[in-house]
Amino acid sequence: MPVLGKVFLVGAGPGDPELVTLKAARLIRSCDAIVYDYLAAPELLEWTKPGCQQICVGKRPGFHSLPQEQIQERLVELARAGLEVVRLKGGDPFIFGRGGEEASALIKAGVSFEIVPGITAAIGCAAYAGIPLSHRAATGAITFISGHEMPDKASELAINWPEHARSGATLVLYMAMGRLPEIAGRLIAEGRDPETPAAVVQRGTTAKQRILTTCLKALAQDVEKEGFGPPSVVIIGSVAAYAEELAWFGDSRDRPQV
Ligand code: SAH
Repeated sequence: MPVLGKVFLVGAGPGDPELVTLKAARLIRSCDAIVYDYLAAPELLEWTKPGCQQICVGKRPGFHSLPQEQIQERLVELARAGLEVVRLKGGDPFIFGRGGEEASALIKAGVSFEIVPGITAAIGCAAYAGIPLSHRAATGAITFISGHEMPDKASELAINWPEHARSGATLVLYMAMGRLPEIAGRLIAEGRDPETPAAVVQRGTTAKQRILTTCLKALAQDVEKEGFGPPSVVIIGSVAAYAEELAWFGDSRDRPQV
């Protein structure tokens, strides 16, 4: 039996609902089922049509979330029921979003799909914090790193910390808030200047956005002191210092004059 439904792996952007693409907005409005987790802005769900099935699969740190295999099975089931399904994923589906695994599972099950890119947290948070990730005066390279890969030896091999320490690229760390002492220590031990500017952007692009600017050697301690936690991205490199000058979001100049 051919599968009649279809799954769209859709990037929900970093938080501000206005940062989704027109394609994402169209699909959210027309889909029969939407499968989401906590990183997607709740406002997006309000755009769904009456009768659209809204399925939360969790993914909030410390809360129960559906195991990845079950999410994939659910997507397949919904498509087999003939539905047009939006799998809404925070940021971009292919940046630390397990979108690749979900697409593989769909292929395996004979379900057709499309990928709709989204603004990933690094891009959204940097823009809303006034940090140009590349700057002619500072660096011409940007590296996205998952901090999550740190604890076990096997996956640590996948991340070449010595190379990242010495590259001079702007580093953007995702999922790293629990491991900043190890990561910052490692980067310094491998040769990155301890005075390198660093910034943390928590809940970037939302009304709850907070920014911390510091330097690599003080990063972990300042994060602890100021009570920063996930979801946050950490930007390491001389461009991080621009936040002091260019931060604009939530600035009073940005609000309508009364
Ligand atoms: N696919 C997503 C990333 C998922 S991994 C994307 O492209 O953005 C989850 C991590 O993304 C979080 O631990 C955090 O590091 C980052 N993140 C997502 N949304 C964020 C936000 N609004 N502000 C800061 N960091 C965010």
